[in-house]
Amino acid sequence: MSSMDQTFGINVFNDFIMRERLPRETYRALHKTIDDGRRLDPQVASVVANAMKDWAIERGATHYTHWFQPLNSVTAEKHDAFITPVAGGRVISEFSGKELVRGEADASSLPSGGLRSTFEARGYTAWDPTSYAFIKDHTLCVPTAYCSYSGEALDKKTPLLRSMEAVSKQAVRVLHLFGRTDCTRVLPSVGPEQEYFLVDKALYDRRSDLIFAGRTLFGAYPPKGQELGDHFFGTIKPRVQAFMTELNEELWKLGVLAKTEHNETAPAQHEMAPIYSVVNVACDHNQLTMEIMKKVAGRHGLMCLLNEKPFEGVNGSGKHNNWSLTTNTGYNLLEPGDSPHESAQFLLFLMSVIKAVDENQDMLRASVASAGNDHRLGGFEAPPSIISIFLGDELTEILEALESGASYNGREKTDMAIGVHMLPKFPRDTTDRNRTSPFAFTGNKFEFRMLGSSASIATANVVLNTIVAESLRQFADELEEAESFQEALHDLIVRTIREHKRIIFNGNNYAEDWLEEARRRGLVRLDTTVDALPCYMAEKNIRLFSTHKVLSENELRSRRDIGLDSYAKMIGIEAKTMLMMARREILPAVLRYAGDMAEAGNRMRSFLPAQPHTAAESLTAQLTAGCDRLHAGIKALEAAMDARPRDTDPLTEARYMKDTVLPAMRDLRKAADDLEQITDRKAWPFPTYDELLFNV
Ligand code: ADP
Ligand code: MG
Repeated sequence: MSSMDQTFGINVFNDFIMRERLPRETYRALHKTIDDGRRLDPQVASVVANAMKDWAIERGATHYTHWFQPLNSVTAEKHDAFITPVAGGRVISEFSGKELVRGEADASSLPSGGLRSTFEARGYTAWDPTSYAFIKDHTLCVPTAYCSYSGEALDKKTPLLRSMEAVSKQAVRVLHLFGRTDCTRVLPSVGPEQEYFLVDKALYDRRSDLIFAGRTLFGAYPPKGQELGDHFFGTIKPRVQAFMTELNEELWKLGVLAKTEHNETAPAQHEMAPIYSVVNVACDHNQLTMEIMKKVAGRHGLMCLLNEKPFEGVNGSGKHNNWSLTTNTGYNLLEPGDSPHESAQFLLFLMSVIKAVDENQDMLRASVASAGNDHRLGGFEAPPSIISIFLGDELTEILEALESGASYNGREKTDMAIGVHMLPKFPRDTTDRNRTSPFAFTGNKFEFRMLGSSASIATANVVLNTIVAESLRQFADELEEAESFQEALHDLIVRTIREHKRIIFNGNNYAEDWLEEARRRGLVRLDTTVDALPCYMAEKNIRLFSTHKVLSENELRSRRDIGLDSYAKMIGIEAKTMLMMARREILPAVLRYAGDMAEAGNRMRSFLPAQPHTAAESLTAQLTAGCDRLHAGIKALEAAMDARPRDTDPLTEARYMKDTVLPAMRDLRKAADDLEQITDRKAWPFPTYDELLFNV
């Protein structure tokens, strides 16, 4: 065995370890819970807990924690030591079944969006046995869901698990209609590609904006950015490679299938993609990945920036969410298949996604909404804030032929009946595939590209799973009633194409005229978080999420409120950081420098009175005028911040920040960036873009 085989998953209580360490009966019972969602017997839980504890202690752990994902984008953990006191002033190590299965979480400082105050003050965490426990920092981490005592989901994991159930239930109904009665569960598979920036830690430490906001709030564009396209897939520098190597090793120990690494488009930007897994595991692993990236960067004198738009003028970072549906028999439902029968089934699942995306553009857009991602979406680099689907020419032509009943590729009209017609194989690795599309079919999966780099993938996948569950529910309802399955199937597919083809767009999403075209097609355009989040409360969406028991009206409201509240808070933090930097760093530095220049001018005049001294005079004048503009910008932003509404509703606050504070921030930045370009590099108070982007 290579060392990689030996270290992979070494800190994970995985199936291999379970089989090795659990009594056969316990192992079997636990598997029933994992595979079929069966309730776990307390007796079994005790045995599992004990085995987990022994294994963890052997591997150096001293503590355990219920690891959960509250309604901000981070993970939460509270460590408890395994110790229990016994007589004689000694302790024994203990971890009971009860402690494994359920934890008290008095996490009253975590955001609950009003859910806790109206019900119980405290919540509890419940073990998710479908995601393996693991050891991190001498602590056994048990992945859990976090709920209030009245059953409200206070986290991102609970709705994700519920949405998995929802889509599984409806997909199985459809599969049974196709005679696939061996399929009893269908689970979403997800591979999230994670983009990030690496900057030098010493430079980072001198920038308050990076420290407090995670992105630069000032900075003139350097002479060179990404214009030459020389960073994407470029040779990886030794320091970055050392980081990547250690990152992989750390992730592999945690059982994360880190697979692909490369340089991204912007200077200092990189990507890591894991091999896909079941969505709740992919979600846990992505949270771990972000955490480990930051930790490992520190060991290399680097800082890992996960913000969606750390630098203006170069590409921001996203998280491409590759999504498909896999049966418990190991079959990918978005794989076109070899026989006519499989083709028909593929087409139906394909249509279920197309219909879902078209009918729920608003929720998909809302699922990726955040202050950081607003700076990225709609730029000519990342997906626009309008949702459309890229299918590729071949598949689009097939759908067109089906709709019109015309012949396709030399096939007779009659051959186009579903169930008779066989789809050609699509080239899986299409290098010319459309990278401007927010939602692209890539051969056997859909790639949702709008997710921000810092976000949890949970929310977007909750929405994806639920909206597809709804399409499948409608399809199953209709087909189960049909007299002739074949005919009903054909009618259904053709009708769905007709009703939802407006969402298909294979062209350039960055082109100006797409905005006009999208408007003509009646597609939803929600430019900012403030525009997008209110749709959580739309009648249609409340119905949709409660029908599938994924999120209740209260739970939806709490998520909307938390989203708007974090948006307003984030912009507030950014504005205050800008004011601090402008008042206490930029203005004093430039005024001093302007004074130096004025004095230099005076000195030169006294030596050479006959000369005009244009350079010194004009520079001093420019600097002075620039400082006045900066000063005015500071005053304006201060005034905007002072007048902000407080303790009203989250929407009013968020809207104010967007409409009044953000523009004032932009003006202040412009004044500072202009000054940066005429100020002595040595006088400028913090590292500039060229240093940050090209110094690793
Ligand atoms: P690219 O950057 O060209 O889109 P990557 O290799 O960086 O491709 O990422 C592709 C991601 O899609 C990987 O995480 C991969 O595991 C994942 N993936 C591949 N097949 C599937 C599938 N059937 N379902 C979900 N994800 C998949
Ligand atoms: Mg990639």
